[in-house]
Amino acid sequence: MKAAVLNDYNQALELEDRPEPEITRPNQVRVKIEAAGVCSTDLHAIDGEMGPAGMEVPRVLGHENGGRVDAVGDLVTTVSAGDPVLIYPPHSCGVCVNCRRGLDMHCEHHQFTGLTLDGGFTEYLVVSEREIVPLPSGIEPVDVAPHSDAGITAYHALKRVAHLMLPGTTTVVLGAGGVGHVGLQLARELGSSRVLVVDPHPDRRKLAEELGADEALDSAGVVDAVRDLTDGRGADLVLDFVGNDQTHGDALGMLGLTGTYSMIGFGGTITVPSVALVSQEQTVRANLVGSWTDLWEVVQLHAAGRITLKTETHPLDEVNEVLGRLREGDITGRAVLLPHANGSG
Ligand SMILES: [Zn+2]
Ligand SMILES: [Zn+2]
Repeated sequence: MKAAVLNDYNQALELEDRPEPEITRPNQVRVKIEAAGVCSTDLHAIDGEMGPAGMEVPRVLGHENGGRVDAVGDLVTTVSAGDPVLIYPPHSCGVCVNCRRGLDMHCEHHQFTGLTLDGGFTEYLVVSEREIVPLPSGIEPVDVAPHSDAGITAYHALKRVAHLMLPGTTTVVLGAGGVGHVGLQLARELGSSRVLVVDPHPDRRKLAEELGADEALDSAGVVDAVRDLTDGRGADLVLDFVGNDQTHGDALGMLGLTGTYSMIGFGGTITVPSVALVSQEQTVRANLVGSWTDLWEVVQLHAAGRITLKTETHPLDEVNEVLGRLREGDITGRAVLLPHANGSG
């Protein structure tokens, strides 16, 4: 089978022929990968920044995977061959304290498909039944594959602060990219805030308005713009889907009294005098992926027609071109690779 492999950091992925993986344990499921989303985390992986997360090369990337069950081990009870599914990327044991608390992504035996283990930029993947999220009828894997990371991450972050999105409050969404365009819809669905979306790209601002943002603002001068729009008070909640030095500074600059700054994107360094946080009783928090249940819930929202995903599809052979466009900020929504598609287009 074809696989797009990162053989060394700061290099293009290489298409290789690999043997199809076999089920070796009775709790495993083999999935024919129909769709794999391409994420900024893949760029961080290529750039060699995921070492602290336990990543090594060579590695098949791809952690936003959806497909159809191809074979199941003897002990598998929740799915059978032919079922459409998503793959929840963190591996979790189910019996450690964090797993029992529902914090699957903090499992003591943590692994992550597409980072610490080979992922879905290939044709077949074997995972344990715990990672399988069955799809409701009528939902195709290609339509929802990016929820496996983009959707779940946005949902996990939004669910934790939904109680802050009260009527009369202002929530600012920084970045309307692959994760942010889901996040802004969830802000609309889970809360009653006015939702301001900030993105430097006009196409993504347009998308944000189509998806329910009350206003979409350019990144330049955004701190003053948010202060103006809130009569000087600033934002009650800032959701940062970018996470670079610029957005860290902007977020803290626009955050109002008792405001919460919630980070989803990452990569920069936060510097803030503690007196500023204490005197304004502000909160800074960070979010990592989400639980299996978070993914199940975001899929239910999608199936109910309450949120949508903006996607474009490409054959696996175009992976490097797609990654290049993502790096240039040239993708609106999420690019999804189709490992079983032939040719280009
Ligand atoms: Zn991702
Ligand atoms: Zn565990």
